[in-house]
Amino acid sequence: PYDVLVVGGGPAGAAAAIYAARKGIRTGLVAERFGGQVMDTVGIENFISVSYTEGPKLAASLEQHVKEYGVDLITGQRAAELKRDGLLTLGLESGAVLSSRSMVLAPGARWRKLGVPGEAEYANKGVAYCPHCDGPFYKGKKVAVIGGGNSGIEAAIDLAGIVEHVTVLEFADTLRADEVLQRKARSLPNVTIIANAQTTEIVGNGKTVTGLNYTDRASGEAGSVELAGVFVQIGLVPNTEWLQDSDIELNRTGEMIIDERGATSLKGVFAAGDATTVPYKQIVVSMGAGATAALGAFDYLIRESAP
Ligand code: FAD
Repeated sequence: PYDVLVVGGGPAGAAAAIYAARKGIRTGLVAERFGGQVMDTVGIENFISVSYTEGPKLAASLEQHVKEYGVDLITGQRAAELKRDGLLTLGLESGAVLSSRSMVLAPGARWRKLGVPGEAEYANKGVAYCPHCDGPFYKGKKVAVIGGGNSGIEAAIDLAGIVEHVTVLEFADTLRADEVLQRKARSLPNVTIIANAQTTEIVGNGKTVTGLNYTDRASGEAGSVELAGVFVQIGLVPNTEWLQDSDIELNRTGEMIIDERGATSLKGVFAAGDATTVPYKQIVVSMGAGATAALGAFDYLIRESAP
């Protein structure tokens, strides 16, 4: 068995594997796709101490760093089931079973997509999902935020300080964001809120986004907005469906509930990154959380093996 088995090869999983392996304990890492969301990112300007890098480059350095420590790297495999059976056992979709004395789960998350024409075509070319990451790229330009929940309205308030103008499009007839956020957004001169708006298409010139089309769900009329960027804020979905029947406690949105050491409700199982209740989903935050979870697992192991 492994001493620490990490699930996930994004920033959180990579950091956890390096911290664990540096303790000289037997460490494995299982990931469907090494690099995680970082592989889908182009420019990264908030990876502290590196003023600019790109996703695939950062993912390659992460992999190289993990490999320097002799971590048993198993990629192209999906975890499907976690049980405690004396040891912890991880069943993979392929049918293989791995066992370990402790685990760090870092399966990350995915942004919920709109599913309209133009969204995939213009991803990273005007269609964005992370205002903290990509907001500054739209300085002085016009953008839209799709989604009027807390994350959408927070994004609109954040972006209003950077860009020229923000149009918020909400599908329902009212916003779902907290009242205080709605008041703040409505008080800003460069924010327009359109409710009852069903975004139907993101349009562009072949290179970048130039606008979007929507239907007013009340009147049935078609509308359009000219802009340079569209921030889709309709939810971040944690990759924890496979843990639904495990003993790991999840919150309402499926995030693993962790304490300050990254411990989950299942003894010996720690978690980190976007798949947890951590409030901010960012690369540096996930790396710190991965380190915390690995150190938590190490503390657990030395106590567990005490005579
Ligand atoms: P992830 O990166 O999601 O990695 C999850 C890992 O788990 C992957 O290896 C995946 O294959 C694996 N996995 C999932 N399920 C299973 C399973 N069942 N079995 C095995 N493996 C599994 N953050 C910033 O700080 N700066 C930015 O500029 C920035 N830009 C972004 C741009 C885009 C387009 C996106 C999508 C995100 C961006 N982010 C940015 C957010 C950042 O990428 C995430 O916060 C970070 O990657 C989360 O790390 P993580 O390790 O928790 O999860």
